[in-house]
Amino acid sequence: MGWLGLDDTDSLAGGCTTKTMEELILNLPKNVQVGTVRLVRLWPFASGRTRGNAALAVELQCEDEEFLIAHLNSWWMNELSPLKGLISPSHHSDRPQVPSDPGMVWFDSQPDELHYWSAVQHHVAIDDVPPATKSWGGAGVIGATAAVAWPGRTSTWEAIAWRHTSDGSKPRRVCLESLEEIDSWPGTFMSRDPRSGTSLIAPRGHSPVLCGVRAKTELEASKALAHVLSSQHTERSAGSRTFMTNQATGDHLQPATRAMVEEIEVHPQRKHARIQTSDGIWVSFGEGGPVNQLSRWLKNGDIVEMKGLKSDDGTFHLEQLRVVSWNARNKQRPLCSVCNVRMKSMGRDQGVRCPKCKLRQDDTWDDVPSEPPFLDWVEPPVSSRRHLARPLDFD
Ligand SMILES: [Zn+2]
Repeated sequence: MGWLGLDDTDSLAGGCTTKTMEELILNLPKNVQVGTVRLVRLWPFASGRTRGNAALAVELQCEDEEFLIAHLNSWWMNELSPLKGLISPSHHSDRPQVPSDPGMVWFDSQPDELHYWSAVQHHVAIDDVPPATKSWGGAGVIGATAAVAWPGRTSTWEAIAWRHTSDGSKPRRVCLESLEEIDSWPGTFMSRDPRSGTSLIAPRGHSPVLCGVRAKTELEASKALAHVLSSQHTERSAGSRTFMTNQATGDHLQPATRAMVEEIEVHPQRKHARIQTSDGIWVSFGEGGPVNQLSRWLKNGDIVEMKGLKSDDGTFHLEQLRVVSWNARNKQRPLCSVCNVRMKSMGRDQGVRCPKCKLRQDDTWDDVPSEPPFLDWVEPPVSSRRHLARPLDFD
């Protein structure tokens, strides 16, 4: 009968829009039927957003729409609008402290998906948001509407459990053994950093989220979270829910671009690579792991395929990279045609000579065959991949 969207109720002080939505849902009037709740990640470069940039949406069924809107209105006034302007006193964050500006929307039918695609791929101004049946609040309306507009044809799932406290000074207890177990279950993904073994399911610091387990299906996500929560080494949770998400869909990226490398600069200490190509400037950072390693190997004239997000300064931040063809990296003297020994230069314009049989010939060079460090597409390690990034092994 209608769609509710919610965004930007979290501040860096440790709120989380998932928890705010959960409280709203648990306090809906009894006769309201609640659909599958959607956790929708949006454009990662949106200014003033917390790192995850997530909004929420849910389809609600109720006989009396006016009654439901009146309920939402009072919930907004009492519970959500007071969250406006909150910022964090936290010292854990080096991100700019941007006050939250919550937004809530009600649509009696789902708006065109065009708004979702805009909000997941680039900046959207508040004036360009399709009008809701009823809307509350400020900038959060942009993400809230995008979450409602998400068509959800491709999705994954995340099962989230909340803590009794959002006090980051009380360390989270999440059983590492159960984490290791679910990491090997079919369907779960990005639970653990395979190299360091570090947990990727629990946030750090101030957050009401205890942990969130990602999987390809709803059942796999729910079962894996239940397994972690059932361990006596995991702290008691204050409730949980399994969300349908656009994580790991790659929706934020355009199809791959093919271009020629024209110039490359590598920062000697920080390992950033800045690649001038026939189709714009592409940048890779040290955290990109294999993407950065392959970037730094590139030379002028190589043909590459790339996927990435355009940043404010007009450069593209590389997320996936493949080298299609490349020139030889080095040259060497030819082998002697008689004894197969590497010939040596006799000096400038003097030709080359075999050190064994003394055969002479004109001064020439052969290419040294070279191979890139990776022959196929590469992506950053799981620990520095975006929520939206579609893992290469998903295809
Ligand atoms: Zn020879």
